Amino acid sequence: MSVDYYDVERDLSSEERMTRDTVRKFVTNEFMPVVREHFQAGTFAVALIPRLGELGLLGANLSGSGLPGINNVAYGLVMQELERGDSGLRSFASVQGSLVMHAILAFGSEPQKERWLSLLGAGKAVGCYGLTEADHGSDPEGMKTKAVRDGKGYLLNGSKMWITNGSISDVAVVWAKLDGTIRGFLVEKGTAGFSARDIKSKLSMRASITSELIFEDVRIPGENLLPKAEGLKAPLQCLTQGRYGIAWGALGAAMACFEEALAYTSERKQFGRPIASFQLTQAKLADMLTEITKAQLLCLKLGRLKDAGAMRHTQVSLAKRNNVRIALEIARTARGMLGANGISDEYPVMRHLCNLETVETYEGTYEIHTLILGKDLTGLSALM
Ligand SMILES: Cc1cc2nc3c(=O)[nH]c(=O)nc-3n(C[C@H](O)[C@H](O)[C@H](O)COP(=O)(O)OP(=O)(O)OC[C@H]3O[C@@H](n4cnc5c(N)ncnc54)[C@H](O)[C@@H]3O)c2cc1C
Repeated sequence: MSVDYYDVERDLSSEERMTRDTVRKFVTNEFMPVVREHFQAGTFAVALIPRLGELGLLGANLSGSGLPGINNVAYGLVMQELERGDSGLRSFASVQGSLVMHAILAFGSEPQKERWLSLLGAGKAVGCYGLTEADHGSDPEGMKTKAVRDGKGYLLNGSKMWITNGSISDVAVVWAKLDGTIRGFLVEKGTAGFSARDIKSKLSMRASITSELIFEDVRIPGENLLPKAEGLKAPLQCLTQGRYGIAWGALGAAMACFEEALAYTSERKQFGRPIASFQLTQAKLADMLTEITKAQLLCLKLGRLKDAGAMRHTQVSLAKRNNVRIALEIARTARGMLGANGISDEYPVMRHLCNLETVETYEGTYEIHTLILGKDLTGLSALM
């Protein structure tokens, strides 16, 4: 069993519980035994990609084209359990489903959907999502990557930075300006002029591939333009889906850190007593539990709103902003509670702590979500 102080279990359907338990088993039995070696080596567990597909965990909440179409609470629980393993595992599934498959489903043509969705859902193809550039992160509207018309197709030039799954992808959803308007293009692996270079300097999200994408006079066939995506609102709509999963995922990382801290301090003795018996330790555990419980209730309510078609993107901002920040604080506190062992990769806590630094930054930093909420509350944008 796992931390569930307010009996959220009671509000889950049997399908939702079953989905969560299946993912928990997969992560425990198949992912945890290999996560340390991947984190140390700076590699992703690519051998597990087809397993993620077999289990229906890629684009799990999307419907049509043979996709599982599970509800959004079950999907959130999938994200929670994947990130209980490692943020890199959840990032893989988030990018593949919420960013790439969602973009093709929402903005793609019928032939694009037929070509990619079932392959991506089965884990037989990998996708990445290129929005960020080296000089344009929080402000993607300023992007420099540009497409121009070239006969029946397009010529693409520019680069994207910090792209999850970049070098292992068969297809990249790339956002670029065409006549000054942001449009989405499907850029396939092996296209002349397109290359991906891995970023090796990361101290966070090490068990995940992050790359730079480079486009030098890349010829894109006309049918690879996403026909229904025009303007920044299209990539932002995908990000709302991604951020929804992150809110749940960060909770999974927080739960893993809390459970480790509780178990460790109950066993570890100093001054002749378990360190869990000291009041200062108990105060930390009580604070962690309180934040986790609030985040669990937030996620469940957000998921039910999403299933009812009533979720607003600003509510997703609130949940992403809150849950990642509390997860980061819980990971940091847990790290200290494990003493010197807290910095060892024999325990998962420091790995989660390092990963969560990325999760706080990507898909809208803490500050950007603060400003989204500020605008929603006041009607005044601090971003322009
Ligand atoms: C491991 C990893 C994986 C990633 N994967 C992807 C991916 O798959 N696809 C993709 O497109 N991108 C990806 N990203 C990029 C990520 O989304 C960006 O890093 C993020 O949007 C922040 O942009 P930036 O790094 O350029 O920071 P900046 O935008 O330069 O921000 C730096 C700091 O300034 C603050 N700041 C910026 N503007 C304001 C403001 N108006 N007011 C107050 N503070 C402000 C920010 O909050 C931040 O603290 C990934 C990043 C990482 C680290």
